[in-house]
Amino acid sequence: MRAVLDHVGIAVKDLGAALAFYRDALGLEIEAPEEVAAQRVRAHFIPVGESKDRGAGAPGVKLELLEATSPDSAIAKYVEKRGPGLHHITLRVDDIHAALAQLKQRGAKLVDEAPRPGAEHGLVAFIHPSSAHGVLVELKQVVEQPSATDHHPSAASAVTRYALGDLELISLFDGFLRLDGGAMFGVVPKALWAKQTPADDKNRILLAMRPLVVRGARTMLIDAGLGGKEDRRFHEIYGVDRSRNLDHTLAEAGLTREDIDIVLATHLHFDHAGGFTVRDAAGRVRPAFPRAQYVVRRGEWEDARHANERNRASYLADSFLPLADAGVLQLVDDDQTIMPGVRVRRTGGHTMHHQMAIIESGGRTAAFMADLVPTTAHLAEPWIMGFDLYPMDTLASKKAFYKDALEKDMLVFFEHDPAVAAGHIREEQGKRRIVPAQSRS
Ligand SMILES: [Zn+2]
Ligand SMILES: [Zn+2]
Repeated sequence: MRAVLDHVGIAVKDLGAALAFYRDALGLEIEAPEEVAAQRVRAHFIPVGESKDRGAGAPGVKLELLEATSPDSAIAKYVEKRGPGLHHITLRVDDIHAALAQLKQRGAKLVDEAPRPGAEHGLVAFIHPSSAHGVLVELKQVVEQPSATDHHPSAASAVTRYALGDLELISLFDGFLRLDGGAMFGVVPKALWAKQTPADDKNRILLAMRPLVVRGARTMLIDAGLGGKEDRRFHEIYGVDRSRNLDHTLAEAGLTREDIDIVLATHLHFDHAGGFTVRDAAGRVRPAFPRAQYVVRRGEWEDARHANERNRASYLADSFLPLADAGVLQLVDDDQTIMPGVRVRRTGGHTMHHQMAIIESGGRTAAFMADLVPTTAHLAEPWIMGFDLYPMDTLASKKAFYKDALEKDMLVFFEHDPAVAAGHIREEQGKRRIVPAQSRS
């Protein structure tokens, strides 16, 4: 493993006082601050490397002033317990998953068993100080930005592109939301899931919404995230952050709403179908993709229209009923090809008629797993959401799908993972892990 010093993190209690020293007294240049939503901190980087390695592509060593944005962030707790001061050092590695696997094999104690989104477009993971001789060590992998933009998307919200035979697959982003960690992991105890996915002070975990574009003879969008119709109260309850959303990422992908020919629904929950419609200036809700036909499984459509006490909170009628009124709805009854290369496959489990998309071209296969395997933390078979209406069906579908995915070495897409859009499943000694796929720029 090759590791280079990336930065030294300094926990700060009073940012003004810290700036008075580092900026004014030392005369250093401070970069614009960056929010790291997943860790509830604001990072202020200060380049202190030699100028020759400060050019693009070779970032020099930096100091990082860390300011808590919430009293429950790790930095706030650290400052409260020990006062401000040296917090961590960060080593940059080429493959953070490989580095973590190697450390784990050698018995190192890890704070993060899986990488999470960090500052400066990175994936990061912390190693426990007890294994690093009293120093908190952060590993970081810089994820290359697939498209140049002026608002620097972090790796977590980047547009990523993959070639699959004659098709192009583009993973988009419609923001983050936070859902109860217990509900996201069902019967798995918090003592286990919290290691993979830290919870906030309301016990919620960070999730992304990642719709997928499939470009071939036609252009298909699979799911569309939450969309922009919900009010502030809704955003507070679900911790929604759509400051970067589908509009930004569609544009970065070089697409407009008019380019979408087909919108495919995996199911009609609000975090998948909310973006199917928009409210226009007159307050009327209409289809968000003016040229598209919307393909929905008939059983899911019926269940969403006739919701019950158990699933009612997951459906917002405004996201799907206007499709029928506008005459753009196509209901499908069974597993079938929706456009050349894209088939739907019912998984059930999460909802009775939840479906995934299987995408095939040039002898290669990809799968958009939707809520069958929403994040990389849900890879293990029993890690099934408490939201699932029929968890035993989820279990059976996961088993059958993994067999298929391993045989075909499928490229799998995680619709809700906060850090990883897509990867390949690897199985070693009965244990599965994900090797994130590199986006081709
Ligand atoms: Zn769902
Ligand atoms: Zn979902």
